[in-house]
Amino acid sequence: MGYFCEVRCPDCGYSRKFQLGCGKKDFDREAVYSHFDMMDGWAAKVEEMKKSSAYLTFRYRLGRCEDCGMLKEVPEITFEDGTVFYSKQCTCDPDSEHEIRLVADEDGETVPCPDCGNMLTPERTGLWD
Ligand SMILES: [Zn+2]
Ligand SMILES: [Zn+2]
Repeated sequence: MGYFCEVRCPDCGYSRKFQLGCGKKDFDREAVYSHFDMMDGWAAKVEEMKKSSAYLTFRYRLGRCEDCGMLKEVPEITFEDGTVFYSKQCTCDPDSEHEIRLVADEDGETVPCPDCGNMLTPERTGLWD
């Protein structure tokens, strides 16, 4: 089960709805792994995981690309041993890794509007699965 998270800017009209948390399709491991292709150490970690049946948790979190300011759904994966990976990809430059800041939407953390810089509070608005 996942949830919708909405970010709206009253000043410039920016509005986006993000699908966060996790859904059924996300338990397809190959699909999960495809989010992390480029990362250092990732290929080795995947090999290790393929040999074991270790438990993993997958979810989307709200994140901000610190290079272009875009807000996005960031895939995050947590392995049984506590290792956490999250995607550092962004469409502003698909061939390199970016500084992605994860937003704790459950704590009312604010994020700057990608269009005008106004500080906005993401709101949870419903569930999806
Ligand atoms: Zn970016
Ligand atoms: Zn704005």
